[in-house]
Amino acid sequence: MTLPDSVLKRIETLRQTIDAWNDQYYALDTPSVPDAEYDRRMKELQALEYQYPESIQPSSPTQRIGGFPLKAFNQVSHKIPMLSLGNAFEIDDVIAFDQRIRQRLHHTTEVEYVGEPKIDGIAVSLRYQQGKLIQGATRGDGTTGEDITQNLCTIHSIPLQLRGENYPELLEVRGEVYMPLTGFSQYNHNLEKAGAKLLVNPRNAASGSLRQLDPQITAQRPLAFFAYGIGQISSNTTLRSHSDLLAILKSYGLPINPHTQICIGAAACLQWHKQLAQMRDQLNYEIDGVVYKVNSTEQQKILGFISKAPRWAIAHKFPAREELTQIEAIEFQVGRTGTLTPIARLKPVFVGGVTISNATLHHIEEVWRKDIRVGDTVIVRRAGDVIPYVASVIIDRRPAHTTPVALPKHCPICHFAVVKAESEVIARCTGGLFCHAQLKETIKHFASKHALDIHGLGDKWAEQLIESKLVTDIAGIYLLNKEKLLTLARMGEKSANHLLTAIENSKTTTLPRFIYALGIREVGEITASILAKHFGCLENLMSADQETLQTISDIGPIVAVHIASFFQQPHHRELIEQLQTLGVHWPAYTVTPPEQLPLTGKTFVLTGTFSQMTRDEAKQRLQSLGAKVAGSVSAKTNYVVAGTDAGSKLEKAKTLGIPILSETDWLAFLEDNHSA
Ligand code: NAD
Repeated sequence: MTLPDSVLKRIETLRQTIDAWNDQYYALDTPSVPDAEYDRRMKELQALEYQYPESIQPSSPTQRIGGFPLKAFNQVSHKIPMLSLGNAFEIDDVIAFDQRIRQRLHHTTEVEYVGEPKIDGIAVSLRYQQGKLIQGATRGDGTTGEDITQNLCTIHSIPLQLRGENYPELLEVRGEVYMPLTGFSQYNHNLEKAGAKLLVNPRNAASGSLRQLDPQITAQRPLAFFAYGIGQISSNTTLRSHSDLLAILKSYGLPINPHTQICIGAAACLQWHKQLAQMRDQLNYEIDGVVYKVNSTEQQKILGFISKAPRWAIAHKFPAREELTQIEAIEFQVGRTGTLTPIARLKPVFVGGVTISNATLHHIEEVWRKDIRVGDTVIVRRAGDVIPYVASVIIDRRPAHTTPVALPKHCPICHFAVVKAESEVIARCTGGLFCHAQLKETIKHFASKHALDIHGLGDKWAEQLIESKLVTDIAGIYLLNKEKLLTLARMGEKSANHLLTAIENSKTTTLPRFIYALGIREVGEITASILAKHFGCLENLMSADQETLQTISDIGPIVAVHIASFFQQPHHRELIEQLQTLGVHWPAYTVTPPEQLPLTGKTFVLTGTFSQMTRDEAKQRLQSLGAKVAGSVSAKTNYVVAGTDAGSKLEKAKTLGIPILSETDWLAFLEDNHSA
């Protein structure tokens, strides 16, 4: 068949694309597309080359293994090439593999295979001379690898000396170095905290870790090893089978994967594949399929090799956990506590065994960090129980005229303003007690035992009251009557009476309970009590600004912001008034007048670094003498204490003419006032 130009062009394009992807993957450890996309393109190229064999060139990626070994390392040549494996994606591919084997072996009965997990790591060769590890190398391009002996010596599961005495004089062990999942997430967690670039996935993390020029860096990475085969061997030890080989390697102290099974015939292989697929999420390492190997060494010899892989083995892949798709829209969902979570609406895609059309984008900062936009082609990942998420964007495929995602100004549910503190990654709806997305949790919290204690108003009724629109805000609880309640499904006369009595009883409450019941962020029972004690009445608390709130011991700057902004919302004030009009009340809270201490009535602001004590200790000392310590300088500030490297607060104090004390002045000042 003559090779049409259009086909030749397609072959060229595929080769260039795959070569570029190989470079990213093997040399830089940063894959640019998911494996599934890579495998599709490779399959297309293989099919075209099969159809037009005259197009095949030795440089085609179908004819080559892996990437090129990095020049930074010494080169190691593999006397026996380190090969790749053929792939099977469908059941039919496995059946065809088994048929090919049987035909070549003229076998009429079932063939015996060994089914092993395909570890998603990096292939290495370990050379043992007289039982001692003398050299370790990567696979490289199959014939030449990189010398990474020092790095491999840092991996605890690789024995530096083989166990026992019966090992051959020379033994080249082959296996996979991988990064356990717990280690991978811990390592990435640490990188995230340090603001460093995260490792892409455990496979590329293992590969990148192994190919470090400094073995001390490799030593810090959590890596492990499983042996699954051999290269050169000196003795004439007759190995009857692959399973015998694994047992011998194990006896030398090499780690062998425990989920290895003898499978007689293709059906048993497929059954083992199914079992390992179910086990996949419980393992502490990534496996991306099952490798079936003809067990008999004699049969392996008869079957031999094709260019890149043995004929006697095949990798039966699991469904991909990463896929490519497009973002059709980005919407914001309001959670129970008012957090706005961006959700990507995706062009449906089959990934991790199911079709997904939505993925969480976690929070707006994540969207901005990954620069995810509507119209983008993205890599989505779904592994085990993890909610599908967008791993990265393929920037090359971004359509023209896209814009970065903007944070909505208003809540999509209640239309109140959306706010996001600069220091936080999460944006929130300020609708609070009004927002329907938050209403159920708000009602449950308001009615809970330590709040207004409305016995019987739990999950079940809260949901029904909201759905039936009998309650649209917490004040609505006090507008319920028997007639209304009896319209609810499964609400009997007795339950209605009980609930109404509980609602009536809840009207008589205490100030701390009421403050707690409002569900202000980070205001738990203890903080509610402190606030009640400090202000004595709700009106004083409602009019306190952030600075005043911060002067109360135990109220930090963040809680102060939450409290002040809660009461600044007019709709919260209206609701509180409405609740009071409907009969919610509490006895006056008697505030014991503060003890007259030497610094009572004086407000301090601390700035800069102190040499004699921490900022918290300084704050406590001032408070113990009756002073208030505010977070920012205003006309109400009496003194500013400036440590070293004081910045804008010091400047402001100078502008306002507020007395400034150095740390030494201040310590002397404290002494004076202490003895006063
Ligand atoms: P492979 O990973 O499909 O299979 C061969 C390898 O499997 C061996 O070299 C060995 O390292 C490993 N293996 C794990 N467990 C084994 C076991 N029990 N017995 C024997 N071998 C075992 O082939 P490959 O040539 O290493 O890589 C090709 C694959 O890598 C592609 O199919 C693709 O999925 C991925 N890839 C992806 C990109 C990308 O850009 N995303 C680029 C290049 C390659």
